[in-house]
Amino acid sequence: MSFFNSIGRSMARAPRPPKRSTTPTSSSFPSTESLPNTPTTPSAPKPLYLCSPFVEAALVKGNFKHIVMLPKYADVMEWVAVNIFDFYQNLNQFYGVLAECCTQQSCPTMTAGPALNYTWINQDRKSVQLPAPTYIDYVMTWVQNLLDDDNVFPTKSGREFSQTFPSTVKHVYRQLLRVFAHLYHAHYPQILHLRSEPHFNSLFAHFLAFGKEYELLDIKDVKGQPGIPVGIGALWERWKEMGILES
Ligand SMILES: [Zn+2]
Repeated sequence: MSFFNSIGRSMARAPRPPKRSTTPTSSSFPSTESLPNTPTTPSAPKPLYLCSPFVEAALVKGNFKHIVMLPKYADVMEWVAVNIFDFYQNLNQFYGVLAECCTQQSCPTMTAGPALNYTWINQDRKSVQLPAPTYIDYVMTWVQNLLDDDNVFPTKSGREFSQTFPSTVKHVYRQLLRVFAHLYHAHYPQILHLRSEPHFNSLFAHFLAFGKEYELLDIKDVKGQPGIPVGIGALWERWKEMGILES
């Protein structure tokens, strides 16, 4: 058994913070963005996460290139698996703290930009609007179930990763990105209130750098479509200018 396998095995038993529904009602991914009914005015104020000093706040100084590099002798699948496990755990903990601010009333849709709502594809293949906490609950439950599934994230020695692992982790990445995108867009004041912006920024920059390095991220998902930008797309650009991310 490898080092990473043993980590995966022990951490997989870690208790999971709050309230999750047992099964998402949708098993189908990916969901798609919906076009807004009304165009928004382009004169919205600059989001706080793009403003100094918050945009520079970080636990990790410098570029993430070295952190994401494949360690010598590590298998790339295992490296991806263990990192996704960590990203999920960390994001889940942040969400656990922010969940009281993310309610059906405060977030009736899964927003991620001034003109962007993510929709969920339900069992009938229909794209539906969900309140953000419901959407996020579905995502986190879905990812947790995958992580617990030894056929997807093998933890026993001698077990191979399936051929669908790369496409599965891309779906996971896309959905976790949406959770980040919502938290930045809708809950950054609360992150600041908790003084968690250095930690949250470093987690997200690490997530972006890792996703880019292993081609788990679709840049279209980070930046959005013309006229329907994802809020965090500007953060991605800013961090590239600052040298935090590779350009
Ligand atoms: Zn919310």
